[in-house]
Amino acid sequence: AKRQGRDSLVVFDGTMQERAARRSCIEHRLRRAVDERAFDLHYQPQICPDTGRLVGTEALIRWFDPELGHVPPDEFIELAEDTGMILPIGEWLAERACRDMAQWRREGLHVPCVAINITTQELLDERLPEALAAALARHDLPATALELEITESALMERRDSSVSLLNRLRKLGIGIAIDDFGTGYSSLSQIKHLPVTKLKIDRSFIQDVVSNRDDQAIVAAIIAMAHQLGLRVVAEGVETDEQLRFLSRQGCDVVQGYIYGQATAPASFLRRMRPGTPS
Ligand code: C2E
Ligand code: CA
Ligand code: CA
Ligand code: CA
Repeated sequence: AKRQGRDSLVVFDGTMQERAARRSCIEHRLRRAVDERAFDLHYQPQICPDTGRLVGTEALIRWFDPELGHVPPDEFIELAEDTGMILPIGEWLAERACRDMAQWRREGLHVPCVAINITTQELLDERLPEALAAALARHDLPATALELEITESALMERRDSSVSLLNRLRKLGIGIAIDDFGTGYSSLSQIKHLPVTKLKIDRSFIQDVVSNRDDQAIVAAIIAMAHQLGLRVVAEGVETDEQLRFLSRQGCDVVQGYIYGQATAPASFLRRMRPGTPS
C-alpha cells in the first residue's frame, strides 16, 4: 500500500461526464494525429555513473495538438492501445528513432543504443521483429542499437504469448529491458526464463532512496540479483547527486533522470551530448 499512488497521475480532474467527453475528444484528435504523424520524439540521456559516458537514450513520445495543447503520453498511450492506434504509432516511432540515431551518427554523436517503449498490444504483433529489423536496415544500423522497454506488468500479463516473440527479437540482437521494475510483483524465477538483458528500476524506489532504508535495501537487492542473473541495471528518475552516489556505490550500471537532463528534441539532444560542445 505504501507505493500506491506514488506514480499515479491525476491527469484530469472533473466529473465522470467531463472525463468521458475529454476521452472521446482525445480519441478523435488522436486519429487525426496518427493520420498526419503529428508526434515528436524527445530523448533523455542514459549515462554510466562511473565514467560519465553516454551509453544510450530513451525515446519518449510527445504530442502537441492545436486544440488540446500538449497531451502527456500517460493520457493517450492507453487509449491508443485500446483503439489499436498504438500499432501505427509504434511503427512511426521505430522509424523515427532509427532515423534520428543515424542522423546523430552522421553529425558526430555516437549514441550506442536507443530505447523505445513497447506496449502489450505491440508484443502480440507477430510482425514486430521484421518491422524493427527493416527500420534498422533502412538506416544502416545494427540491431544492438535498439532496445525495447517493456513494463514488468505488460510482460507478466502476456508471458506465454510474448516469450516466443521476445526470443525472436533477441535472436536479431535487439535488447530487452524490463521497465518499471519492482512494481509488477514478478519473481526472480519468472525473470530467469525471460530473454531479457536489462532491468530498469522504477522511479518510485529511487525517489526516497537517500533517506528511506527500505528503498535502499530494495534497490541494493535488485542490483545484486540482476547482476547474478547477468543483467544490466538502469535506475530511472535520478534527480540528485546523493541518489547518484548511492546508485554508483551499489554498482548500478546506468543512470537516467533529470540529473542529466529532461528529454529534449533530437537537435538539442545532439547539441547537448556531442563531445566538445559546451552545454
Ligand atoms: P516511463 O517509460 O517510465 O518513462 C519515464 C517518465 O519519467 C517520462 O515521462 C520521463 O519524462 C519522466 N522522467 C524522466 N526522468 C525523470 C526524473 O528525473 N524525475 C521525474 N519526476 N520524472 C522523470 P513521460 O515522457 O511523460 O512518459 C510517461 C510514460 O508514458 C512513460 O513512462 C511510458 O510508460 C509512456 N510513454 C512515453 N513515451 C512513450 C512511447 O513512445 N511509447 C509508449 N508505448 N509509451 C510511452
Ligand atoms: Ca520507459
Ligand atoms: Ca520506466
Ligand atoms: Ca516508471
